[in-house]
Amino acid sequence: MTYRGRFAPSPTGCLHFGSLVAAVGSWLCARHAGGQWLLRMEDIDPPREVAGAAADMLATLPAFGLTADATPLFQSTRQPAYDAAFEQLRATGLVFPCWCSRSDLAASGGLHRDGRCVASPIEGRAPAWRLRAPDLDIHFEDALQGSQRQNLRESVGDFVIRRVEGFYAYQLACVVDDAFQDVTEVVRGSDLLDATPRQIHLQRLLGLPTPGYLHLPLVLDAQGRKLSKSDAAHPVDPANPLPALRSALSFLGLTVESDASDPAELLDRALVDFDPAHLSRCGNRRAAIAGISES
Ligand code: GLU
Repeated sequence: MTYRGRFAPSPTGCLHFGSLVAAVGSWLCARHAGGQWLLRMEDIDPPREVAGAAADMLATLPAFGLTADATPLFQSTRQPAYDAAFEQLRATGLVFPCWCSRSDLAASGGLHRDGRCVASPIEGRAPAWRLRAPDLDIHFEDALQGSQRQNLRESVGDFVIRRVEGFYAYQLACVVDDAFQDVTEVVRGSDLLDATPRQIHLQRLLGLPTPGYLHLPLVLDAQGRKLSKSDAAHPVDPANPLPALRSALSFLGLTVESDASDPAELLDRALVDFDPAHLSRCGNRRAAIAGISES
C-alpha cells in the first residue's frame, strides 16, 4: 500500500514555528517512504477561526517547499460525511444527548462516565452529543513514542462528538477524513497523543481502517507551553523561509550541511540523511528559532 501522510492544520492563525515543524516532519516521513503528502484544512470550528488564516497557510507552505500531492481538503465542505458518521454512531445506541456543563462535571474530575448525566434536559436548549466511553484499554504502537495504552472510561470518559453549537468535534471529523483521504500514516504533534485512542475507538465503531501513528516532539515556548497555544507569537516568514526551515530541521534532529539557496533544495538535501528512527533523539523542548518574527 502506498504511504499517504497528511498535514491537517486548523486555521486559527498564521503558520507558526510549531506547525512548521509538524508540516516538515510529516512531509519528510512521507517523502522518505516514497509516498504522498496531503493537506487538510480543519476549518470546522468557526468561533476559533481567524479570517484569512486558511488562505495564508496555503500560500505559506509552498514558500517553504512544502507542496501537496492533491488539492487540499476543506473540512467545511464535509458536513454530509460527518452527518452520516454521526447517524452510524447513533445507530449503535452509544450516543446520547447531554446538557451537563463543566461545573456539573467538576465533582467527577470533569469526566462524564457511563452515560449518566448530572444535568437534566433543558427545554429549548440544544444538547451536546456524547459517545459513551467503554471500560476498555486501547493500545497502539506509536512509531516514535513507543507503546501507548489508555483506558477510555478512566482517562477521557464519555466524549463529545457533536458540540452544543452543532459543530462536529475534531475527533469525529479527523477520523472520517483520515479514512476519506486514505491516510496510512498520521504524523503530528504529541499534543494529540492522548486523542489517538479516542480516534482508534471511533475508527473501530465506524468500520474504518486505523492508520499508523507517529507523534512528533512539541516546540515549547519560554514558559514551557506548547507554542501553538500562543499562535500569534511566532509566525514564520514566507518571504524569508530558509532560516525557519533550518531551525525546523534542526529541531527534528537533522543537521543539514548545505548552502541551499531555496527551500525545496534544502528539503531534498535533508531527505538524503533523514531516517524517522532518528527523530526519537529529541523530546518536547524549546527551540532555537531563527527566521521568525516575535510579536
Ligand atoms: N487540526 C489539528 C491542529 O491544528 C491537528 C489535527 C491532526 O493532525 O490530527 O492541532
